[in-house]
Amino acid sequence: MATYREFHQRSIDDREGFWRDEAAAIDWQAPFDQVLDYSRPPFARWFVGGTTNLCHNAVDRHLPTRAGQKALIYISTETGQARTYTFGELHAEVNRCTAVLRSLCLGRGDRMLIYMPMVPEAVFAMLACVRLGAIHSVVFGGFASHSLASRIDDAKPKLLFTADAGMRGGKALHYKGLVDEAIRLSAHPPEHVVLFNRGIDKNPAMTAGRDLDYAALRAQHMDAQVPVTWLESSEPSYILYTSGTTGKPKGVQRDTGGYAVALAASMQHIYCGKPGETMFTTSDIGWVVGHSYIVYGPLIHGMATVLYEGLPIRPDPGIWWQIVAEHKVSVMFSSPTAVRVLKKQDPRYLGQHDVSSLRHLFLAGEPLDEPTARWISEGLGVPVLDHYWQTETGWALLSSLPGVEATPVKYGSPSFPAYGYDVKLLHEASGAEVGANEKGVVTVVPPLPPGCMSTVWGQDDRFVQTYFSSFKDKLVYTTFDWGIRDDDGYYFILGRTDDVINVAGHRLGTREIEEAVSAHPNIAEVAVVGVHDAIKGQVPMAFAVLKDASMLATPAGRRAMEQEVFAVVDKALGPVGRPARVHFIASLPKTRSGKVLRRSIQAIAEGRDPGDLTTLDDPGGIDQVRGAVTGVQE
Ligand code: AMP
Repeated sequence: MATYREFHQRSIDDREGFWRDEAAAIDWQAPFDQVLDYSRPPFARWFVGGTTNLCHNAVDRHLPTRAGQKALIYISTETGQARTYTFGELHAEVNRCTAVLRSLCLGRGDRMLIYMPMVPEAVFAMLACVRLGAIHSVVFGGFASHSLASRIDDAKPKLLFTADAGMRGGKALHYKGLVDEAIRLSAHPPEHVVLFNRGIDKNPAMTAGRDLDYAALRAQHMDAQVPVTWLESSEPSYILYTSGTTGKPKGVQRDTGGYAVALAASMQHIYCGKPGETMFTTSDIGWVVGHSYIVYGPLIHGMATVLYEGLPIRPDPGIWWQIVAEHKVSVMFSSPTAVRVLKKQDPRYLGQHDVSSLRHLFLAGEPLDEPTARWISEGLGVPVLDHYWQTETGWALLSSLPGVEATPVKYGSPSFPAYGYDVKLLHEASGAEVGANEKGVVTVVPPLPPGCMSTVWGQDDRFVQTYFSSFKDKLVYTTFDWGIRDDDGYYFILGRTDDVINVAGHRLGTREIEEAVSAHPNIAEVAVVGVHDAIKGQVPMAFAVLKDASMLATPAGRRAMEQEVFAVVDKALGPVGRPARVHFIASLPKTRSGKVLRRSIQAIAEGRDPGDLTTLDDPGGIDQVRGAVTGVQE
């Protein structure tokens, strides 16, 4: 067996040989004639000429060997429902759903937006979409109408697949109403809305001719068998929007063959899952982790996957471990925030269930602090592995590879570059490689490996401009994260280089929140910064200047104004974007050239030294921020 070092080295030195071998893990309808086409840097096309299909690899190809084995285990502690689908049953449901979508003329290259709670029909819709060669764009249920509308306008979907409502912590979230509002705001409304009515809203409003009931359509296609549409490897499988420094989220476009190969390889080398076993990923289908490791990764690998709708602490904080015990979960994937939530509960819940089936717990999405890693690892008696990745990469960029070599864990570090990634830490200004223990920007020398984003949907120039233009005369992919490598080669992530913040493992652009806050007619100016939070890692905090500040004269007026700002953000972005606090101040600290000093605001809000203030135009703004923050602390 190779060591980590040999394995990684081969993936860089013999890139094509390495990925040719990995490509054997999936089914190809027609073999590829070229492993990599890198004739147009930085655009990489993997497995050129090969034809395949994600749905075939996730479902159909397992039928001869595991039709009767569990594929999808749905558990909702919100509704008390639980349903299990074997690969055979999953195949039947996906075919019904595919037939429905085909009857609505969804075809190769068309887009379908999926705005769904964590129910099996969401997974059927994703798989049905890719079965037809159509492109899905799943939007997280925590986003509201405005975010939904901007994604509709960018992706221009033919269909929108949604449900009457979701549930969170026992409270209903009315999806259909948000969809109606988004379509009203949109310049490119979809032709049809397919509504899966789960019976939470008894009578959701239906627009005649546009809105269709999924159950009624499904009933017409009970015995449907729809052949898969074979796609050339580079044809898109999905678009997933992610926040950046501008107010406009980017559509991360993923290919088909490269993604399937990358996921299949990761199931073996990183997650050490075995076909027939069960994986439990606690994310949501609206995030990249949900795409890769609730849906496609485990299913492609012939594993059962747990689809969990609910909170980690309801009905009690032992619920996840109960699921692990009941379903003999061998691979689990969660987030540091979720573990910190559990850490606040009675520790006895950790030891109540038999979790001996579990081989590893993987955590990602945000920095994993040492006390949290130690607490969960010791409490469960299971190795806990931190790994680092992004929506753009689709799978881990930094990770140990327990399937290759069990390298020792260093708490606080996601270990080493994963195979296929030629990672360099570069000096921010000079672009030169930094030495051990020196801080640099985490970059990847292209071509990016299979599975990573192929481009920004519809905007090739934005892909190059955003990700490959940070360093003069150097074509490298920038992660926008600071990192450091120690003498033993372990990497540590030190936070973002841009104005993107990470709330509970989810990326939010401060610019997007600022735009949402500014929608309130009484806001003159606003700056949003990320502030350290013991549970969520970071939370957004807003500092706003009002046009008419008269209501601030009383504490009640101030609170009412803050509530009004919360309401406009909830309406535009949804609860995910809501600031923890809105502080009202008379002026924002700015440089003489008019740039808002966000980093200084953030430092003061976190009780740190604001640093060099010599470029400040007027010291009053900084005093305002300090006064607002200390006023809160009193
Ligand atoms: P997203 O695309 O929403 O998954 O966010 C990706 C960002 O989350 C990265 O650019 C990092 O800033 C952060 N991130 C993800 N995983 C880790 C990790 N293991 N350690 C530290 N930061 C992480």
